[in-house]
Amino acid sequence: MNCIKCGGKSTVVETRLSPGETRRRRQCVECGYRWTTYEMAELTISQVRTLRKLHDEFTDIRKIMDRAIDRIDSAIVS
Ligand SMILES: [Zn+2]
Repeated sequence: MNCIKCGGKSTVVETRLSPGETRRRRQCVECGYRWTTYEMAELTISQVRTLRKLHDEFTDIRKIMDRAIDRIDSAIVS
């Protein structure tokens, strides 16, 4: 990767791996500027659909639970 400041060549001085993400500390060979880059896996269309489905299911469960809590609250008050 070229330096984001001067366009010179850069080297990776540190790499940190965590689930789903790689963080690299880079340094320009020419001007010495340091910066960090992040790499994340691109989600496939199928993974996006699965996440959307899980989100919708969770939203439905949450609505049901909210209604149940409202009913409990009104039962306690009356
Ligand atoms: Zn540079």
